[in-house]
Amino acid sequence: MVIEPKKRNIAYRCPECGTAVLGLVGKFALKADLLRLKCSCGEGDAMDIGAASDKRVRLSVPCLFCKQNHSYTVSESIFFDRDEFMLNCPYSGMDIAFMGTEEEIGAQLDRTKTEIERLMMSLGAEELSDIQPQDMNEDEILPDPAVYDTLKFLIRDLEDEGKVICPCGEGSYELRFCDGGVQVYCERCGASYTFKAMTPTMAEEYLGLDEIRLK
Ligand SMILES: [Zn+2]
Ligand SMILES: [Zn+2]
Ligand SMILES: [Zn+2]
Repeated sequence: MVIEPKKRNIAYRCPECGTAVLGLVGKFALKADLLRLKCSCGEGDAMDIGAASDKRVRLSVPCLFCKQNHSYTVSESIFFDRDEFMLNCPYSGMDIAFMGTEEEIGAQLDRTKTEIERLMMSLGAEELSDIQPQDMNEDEILPDPAVYDTLKFLIRDLEDEGKVICPCGEGSYELRFCDGGVQVYCERCGASYTFKAMTPTMAEEYLGLDEIRLK
């Protein structure tokens, strides 16, 4: 008796060119090695599929909507035996990886192609890159949004007590993200004060301040 080795059809869409990249994952091959699927355009990130402990499969899937990879871990039985399943982007909710028979995957790719086209049309986007976040280089990485909220709370509190001191006397203060943290600035004279905080814990250290002087 010959036992057919288990195989799984899988697909994702290249974040650079939008092309569907299809592959076949074998159960035995997966045990031996990390599998990598890459678009023939050579530009987009690859999808990685590897075996994890406890009979699970780990996937790193390029996301067309976030332009970064998302990680998933699914049990081997779901990965190889479930008739059809998809992984979706935790931010946009769109399906980004498809597993099933070739026909099923084809149908899902058609469906999501229409979804993407509809999304682009509703946003007036002409190219894929118009719906994707812009490339950021290392020093442009923004702090956690919770940092902004914490500091905004601090500024409003100090402002109420007249403890935000500005060279122009009395300004109105706003916050913005800046290199390495968040900056409070005066809308009237442009003076500013920078909080060097990239994480909520770093931001909380500023909560002890009882006044802020803008320069
Ligand atoms: Zn591509
Ligand atoms: Zn995403
Ligand atoms: Zn001012």
